[in-house]
Amino acid sequence: MKEKKTIVLASPRGPCAGVNRALEIIEEVLRRFGTPLYVNHDLVHNQHVVNTLRERGVLFSKDLDAIPNRSIYLFSAHGVSPKFRQEAEKRNLILIDATCPLVTKVHIEAARLTKTGHFLFFIGHRGHPEVEGTTGVAEMRLIESVSDVKALSAQDVPEGKPIAVLTQTTLSVRETEEILTALKRLFPEIVLPSKKDICYATTNRQKATEELAKQCDSILVVGSKHSSNSNRLRETAENVGVRALLVDFPKDIPDDFLQEAQRIGITSGASVPEILVQNVIDHILQKFPKTEVQNLSVLEENVRFPLPKFPT
Ligand code: SF4
Repeated sequence: MKEKKTIVLASPRGPCAGVNRALEIIEEVLRRFGTPLYVNHDLVHNQHVVNTLRERGVLFSKDLDAIPNRSIYLFSAHGVSPKFRQEAEKRNLILIDATCPLVTKVHIEAARLTKTGHFLFFIGHRGHPEVEGTTGVAEMRLIESVSDVKALSAQDVPEGKPIAVLTQTTLSVRETEEILTALKRLFPEIVLPSKKDICYATTNRQKATEELAKQCDSILVVGSKHSSNSNRLRETAENVGVRALLVDFPKDIPDDFLQEAQRIGITSGASVPEILVQNVIDHILQKFPKTEVQNLSVLEENVRFPLPKFPT
């Protein structure tokens, strides 16, 4: 067992501007209107956040027919397709949109490129709510991997149409670059995302995790299993060659993982409240009281998004 341990905390980590905005919106709505309050999907992909909201009376449902008239209905940070939005607008509901502005930016770009006659590829993970929302904006072909690009043939793209590609906001920067390179090789004229669609928070957390992994022998990523950006942080650390574990709570950390570790790097996904990171730190300190805690600041972040207008 390695007795003398060090915890290294990556910065930036944890909540991004889009998640903070969604949480501020729901707090304000709860303050003004109370419950019941409905959300179309997990407001953000974090088990603790969603369970806490449930305990406070927030209900989650995509089934618009099941939402009572005059209810307040929130769209989650992942965004919704125009079709879903229109369906919701037809009902007697009070709609509040917590879609992250950076997701909305990709929706706007998809609509613009379609209007200018482009055939669209979209790099993302099938079934993720953000992907369902964005691919509902316009017709586009989903690409999940370099193998998907290799499987493409000339017939998959309409002749004579310009081609463009957009991406989900929470992908692995490295893998996405590989897919973009493969697409560019196949379609040299393809229009690549003007500013990378992978958002600043995803990019910054991956950069910080890469640096962290270079300095540690074990990495704990605090985040939920269904959180795309948290999974990408675990992969980022693994790609550096260190073992990494994605955990929601201290109980998810096997004792032997800590016993074997000497320098434990900790980071967290973009939807993870800092209290969950603190709980993991406390758990390690309780087991190994001599552990030293250090910070590793890789980048500064100062992004904030304005709140929408609330109904009166
Ligand atoms: Fe917005 Fe990026 Fe946060 Fe997603 S991870 S909510 S796109 S800032």
